[in-house]
Amino acid sequence: MDNTVENEQPLLEVKDLKKYFPIRKGFFKKTVGHVRAVDEVDLYINEGETLGLVGESGCGKTTTARCILRALDPTDGEILFRTGAGLVVDVATLPESEVRPLRREMQMIFQDPFASLNPRMNLLDIVAEPMLVIDGVKDREERTERVAELLRLVGLRPEYMQRFPHAFSGGQRQRIVIARALALNPRLVVADEPVSALDVSVQAQVLNLMLRLQEELHLTYLFVAHDLSVVKHICDRVTVMYVGKIVETAPTKKLFYQPKHPYTAALMSSVPVADPRIRSAMTPLEGDVPSPADPPSGCYFHPRCPHAVDVCSEEPPALEEISPNHYVSCHRVYELELAGIAGIPAAE
Ligand code: SF4
Repeated sequence: MDNTVENEQPLLEVKDLKKYFPIRKGFFKKTVGHVRAVDEVDLYINEGETLGLVGESGCGKTTTARCILRALDPTDGEILFRTGAGLVVDVATLPESEVRPLRREMQMIFQDPFASLNPRMNLLDIVAEPMLVIDGVKDREERTERVAELLRLVGLRPEYMQRFPHAFSGGQRQRIVIARALALNPRLVVADEPVSALDVSVQAQVLNLMLRLQEELHLTYLFVAHDLSVVKHICDRVTVMYVGKIVETAPTKKLFYQPKHPYTAALMSSVPVADPRIRSAMTPLEGDVPSPADPPSGCYFHPRCPHAVDVCSEEPPALEEISPNHYVSCHRVYELELAGIAGIPAAE
């Protein structure tokens, strides 16, 4: 796929986003600290592109996605969304009554199609639910027609409309979830690990469906995933998170073949490649991910980084644009690049 991205006004821009969860202890539930699940996150998504959000389990990627949709209230920061009417709204501070109409434009696809469908509702009611709840479409015939259209769009037969979720396979259920997410013609779809609960053989079908829908409906995706092969297949750009912070953002090819942050380079070592020259240059990750309740000083990656020097434990590095659309947060990015030790040799 073509991973080039046009430089245009972003559909979504997240600035300095923070989500801290209080740690409460004792009889009076006194706050004794905070879990910094998302800490000073900056990202943007252009209209029609797919941004991947990756990192190890617990790095804050799902919390970031949920804040963007206001399923969680952010602690601080801005979430600027350009609406269909051309207005830019800050989702982070909108009153709840104004968030609801925005759900037409921003929808979510959840990880587990088994858990996200109500087993007591048939397909018609499941897919039509957003039309009824958010758009107030009372006319059953109108809803039925739209559901039939959506089912065709995701490759399911409209005759299935009266069936219940248990009658469908995992891949079909994820198609139902996608149909429901598209019911209100959203512009941004946040997909949280949308294929990780599916068999490998079915994953490619669902990913190809998402790519086709993106082209046909001009959708914009935020794609949260831990499986890097999936991200490589579907994303235009990728953002890597570590302990609540962004460490690198780059166009997909650049990130996979010329990662500049030592953490990204180590993550990439988990992606299977055929070329033994590339494999020998990789450094697998060692040590545990620190707790976001008590992160290390300076660069959060320093206890695991093979290239750490004194300044790394003393000062947090800033996220810097080192080349167009390529952002890295590392004190030694230029030195490591010169020495050729951060990245993996370029290969197609
Ligand atoms: Fe490693 Fe230092 Fe760069 Fe952090 S700032 S990634 S510890 S070299």
